[in-house]
Amino acid sequence: MDQPLRTRRGLLIVLSSPSGAGKSTISRLLLQADPEVTMSISATTRPKRPGEVDDVDYHFVSEAKFDAMIDDGDFVEWAPVFDHRYGTPKAPVKAALKSGRDILFDIDWQGTQQLHAAMGEDLVRIFILPPSMDELERRLRARATDSEEVVAYRMARAANEISHWAEYDYVLINRDMDACLVQVRAIVAAERMKRQRQIGLVPFVRDLVTGR
Ligand code: 5GP
Repeated sequence: MDQPLRTRRGLLIVLSSPSGAGKSTISRLLLQADPEVTMSISATTRPKRPGEVDDVDYHFVSEAKFDAMIDDGDFVEWAPVFDHRYGTPKAPVKAALKSGRDILFDIDWQGTQQLHAAMGEDLVRIFILPPSMDELERRLRARATDSEEVVAYRMARAANEISHWAEYDYVLINRDMDACLVQVRAIVAAERMKRQRQIGLVPFVRDLVTGR
């Protein structure tokens, strides 16, 4: 049985993978399936892709605004990725954790390292591998939102992203989206049951042993 809200500390769930390995879809499915999970919306200086919505997919900001956010200490982490900058705003993370909610981050290995340094014990790091590099390229092309040049660049970056797989707590191969979602949900369920996260159990166990 799932624990009710506020009886446990919130989780920070990081999903990383090379672009095209399916983590955006898995994130979306996890959010739909689990009302205790909220998505961290990053700020980015990259241009909006067709179909993307400001303040839903990302907070799309100018270079100057991103600089100001860094100066104001608004980010819990930020990093350059593919010629643009991406960062995780701090305030929503703090608010979600305080209310006992779990937060899902779709960030790269650089951001994961920074989050680990800042809030290590609440972090659950999941890395998603593609079944093969050919399949990764096929998925990137199927997305059809990026130019050939961008696809080639993302493929070149994929090997670098994958080289950080050993820095994660869990590693999955996304052969099938539904199976991968089941695995991610199993990880989240197990992590929620970790003893150190179950702060709500302390009075329960005390009453249990004293027979109240
Ligand atoms: P895309 O441009 O395809 O949406 O994202 C490119 C890469 O940036 C992805 O690997 C994604 O995980 C990463 N990314 C997105 N938001 C953040 C963020 O806030 N911080 C970091 N470090 N990486 C991010």
